Amino acid sequence: MSAASGMPEPYLHDLGNGFHLYVQLDGSWGLNNVGIHVGREAVTLIDTTMTERRARALRGAVAELTDKPIRTVINTHHHADHTYGNYLFPEATIIGHELCRSATLATGFATKEWFPGVDWGDLEIRAPEVTFTEELTVWFDDVPGKLRYWGPAHTTDDVTLWIEDRGLLFTGDLAFNGGTPFVVMGSVQGLIDTLVQVDRLGAAVVAPGHGAVCGPETIGDQLRYLRFLQDRAKEGFAAGIAPLDWGRQIDLGEFAGLTDRERLVGNLHRAYSELRGEPLGVALDFDRVVADMVAFNDGHPLHCVA
Ligand SMILES: [Zn+2]
Repeated sequence: MSAASGMPEPYLHDLGNGFHLYVQLDGSWGLNNVGIHVGREAVTLIDTTMTERRARALRGAVAELTDKPIRTVINTHHHADHTYGNYLFPEATIIGHELCRSATLATGFATKEWFPGVDWGDLEIRAPEVTFTEELTVWFDDVPGKLRYWGPAHTTDDVTLWIEDRGLLFTGDLAFNGGTPFVVMGSVQGLIDTLVQVDRLGAAVVAPGHGAVCGPETIGDQLRYLRFLQDRAKEGFAAGIAPLDWGRQIDLGEFAGLTDRERLVGNLHRAYSELRGEPLGVALDFDRVVADMVAFNDGHPLHCVA
């Protein structure tokens, strides 16, 4: 256990054929996973981490694995936990969706206001400098990896990495294993539609954006929560009850044990936006969303030990 955070130390899960997942449990706010591929000549990362300290620890973990250079970083989406560490890999080219680039630059350090008390370190914003719109193939030695954009889902700029030859899927935050899905910056319906299609890829092994390595059943778990959210949102919206008040009344049932359950209130804000007929992925009043999630937590700030 790490004395500072009360969380287990990050660990490497060997996925075979040079692929690994750097797992930061318990996967709650800011504790994301990073994919690592050690190729014949160089290393590729799938995402980085949120703080300077955690990015330096990630560098250390790669250095223990191999002395090959890190030449490529793929960002699955723009969120701070996946991109704030980019700058600590200056030797690498960063690849992401074109909307990941624009969202990373537009968001800047605004995320820091969500998580007071985090020791961010001396960060610099670095956005992807190679971007694409629909699909891009990245070669891991002789094995192709398909980067694919799905439309608004967890955010407006999510991509998955599908290593079909290995049955291995990096989902980014389309999947939180053991965590509450989060669609405040994306779309409930968009994430449902996306996960239905992602499930059809037929992955044997899923490397989620947060939580331990899992199988495709985690995609179904996320879909069940999102359909539950949509059903409850329809009831609350029809009754004219505000997201915070409605969230306090909802019995989460099988989802009560997921981490970061206050995301329910933020997710309701997004679901209500869609029930109002607003475009999928439209920007919400994020200050209000965060304030409501904090209120749901009896006034405690979002719990983040990154
Ligand atoms: Zn995210």
